[in-house]
Amino acid sequence: MTLCQHYLVPVVTQGGLTGLCAGAHPDAGELALSLERLTGVEEVDADGVMVVRAGTLLQVVQEVAAQHGWHCGIDIGSRGSCTIGGNVATNAGGNCVVRYGMTRDNVLGLEAVLADGRVLTSLNRMRKNNCGYDLKQLFIGSEGTLGVVTRVALQLHPEPLSQECAFIALRDYESAIALLRRGQKSLGGIVSSFEVMWPDYYSFVVDVAGAAAPLQARHAIYALLEVRGFDAVADRGRLENVLAEAFETGEVEDAVIAQSLDDVRRLWDVRDDVARWLDPYIPSRTTFDVSVPIRAMQLAVDQVRARILHRWENGTVLCFGHIGDGNVHIAVSLPDHRAHIDELNHIVFSQITELGGVISAEHGIGRKRRAYLRYSRSEAELEVMKLIKQNLDPNSILNPNKII
Ligand SMILES: Cc1cc2nc3c(=O)[nH]c(=O)nc-3n(C[C@H](O)[C@H](O)[C@H](O)COP(=O)(O)OP(=O)(O)OC[C@H]3O[C@@H](n4cnc5c(N)ncnc54)[C@H](O)[C@@H]3O)c2cc1C
Repeated sequence: MTLCQHYLVPVVTQGGLTGLCAGAHPDAGELALSLERLTGVEEVDADGVMVVRAGTLLQVVQEVAAQHGWHCGIDIGSRGSCTIGGNVATNAGGNCVVRYGMTRDNVLGLEAVLADGRVLTSLNRMRKNNCGYDLKQLFIGSEGTLGVVTRVALQLHPEPLSQECAFIALRDYESAIALLRRGQKSLGGIVSSFEVMWPDYYSFVVDVAGAAAPLQARHAIYALLEVRGFDAVADRGRLENVLAEAFETGEVEDAVIAQSLDDVRRLWDVRDDVARWLDPYIPSRTTFDVSVPIRAMQLAVDQVRARILHRWENGTVLCFGHIGDGNVHIAVSLPDHRAHIDELNHIVFSQITELGGVISAEHGIGRKRRAYLRYSRSEAELEVMKLIKQNLDPNSILNPNKII
């Protein structure tokens, strides 16, 4: 970094290259800095604090945590290819945010190399540390624009002993949220995932892409509920009770509970293996990753779908997501897709903004969403972001033309 600063060579940091906003793509004349060899877990201490080098794969972090009797609260579909440094740089979300929070909530401290080569070691290990500005937060979610993250201190969690998973058909969206709240109240905080699929997505995956259907009849909405608890015998019963109560109220119309880890994987495949189901049929598509307040989610999905199909009647719109976190993914494919991307972005982002949402929930801004950041940030916020960037990287050599 010292040399690059001296010669004013822009640097684009690369982790596992699984990012979905073109944040790790260098332009001509920019240097790609791979963290592929900066790997390894340095320590897991008795308090469940792990210190790990930034290029380590997330899956390795999870495996080493488990070997020490702990659980990593970060989990995303790209776990086998993405790096913990990339997760920090994008503040990755994923399947367990409803239980463990975003990456930000799992990071206690970090080390970053600044634009001029100075090493900022801030490997805090304590949950409470109010000694001035919390500098790690500057780098979490900064997508390589403020520093190169080189080491991370993570707070791990007690390793769950049970895993129960149910695929559920519900009367409507309100029933899905009622079931989530019922589960969160009755299951003592062990709900680890709550994923929702609208019928457009479910029918496409099952009828067009040929996935094995967990439930045969068609319903208004589907949810995948997972609990990871500490009592392998009682947790199954607790989950069954919650579902039985929701059957009685009419919220739940049908459900299947996984009987083995293979079943768990098969149920998750329907929701999680999105590229496998969609790529062969709609390879040219935009997948939006937006946040909307949970109470406005159904309205957002209905209005976005209606506006897109009004404009392009032959379009395909498929909705699914981490609804427990208010995060929906909307996959859209249009005839002559590339020609309409800007107009499509404006339609979706303006609708989401009107309902109080934001244009990126967990994938970040990178290069792809940069032109649209104004939908979700005020002038004052953009000004402060620019001030931070100018002060930490006055020559703009760190991932230029990304985010702002
Ligand atoms: C199948 C699949 C499923 C996914 N599911 C999710 C999901 O559920 N939730 C979610 O949030 N994301 C998801 N993603 C997106 C992606 O995996 C995450 O954004 C991930 O955190 C990126 O990590 P990476 O190591 O691949 O980073 P890269 O793609 O290499 O880089 C991403 C950005 O971070 C910067 N960066 C990388 N490493 C560092 C570092 N050490 N220091 C500073 N900057 C750095 C890069 O410059 C770039 O701007 C998914 C992607 C795929 C392909």
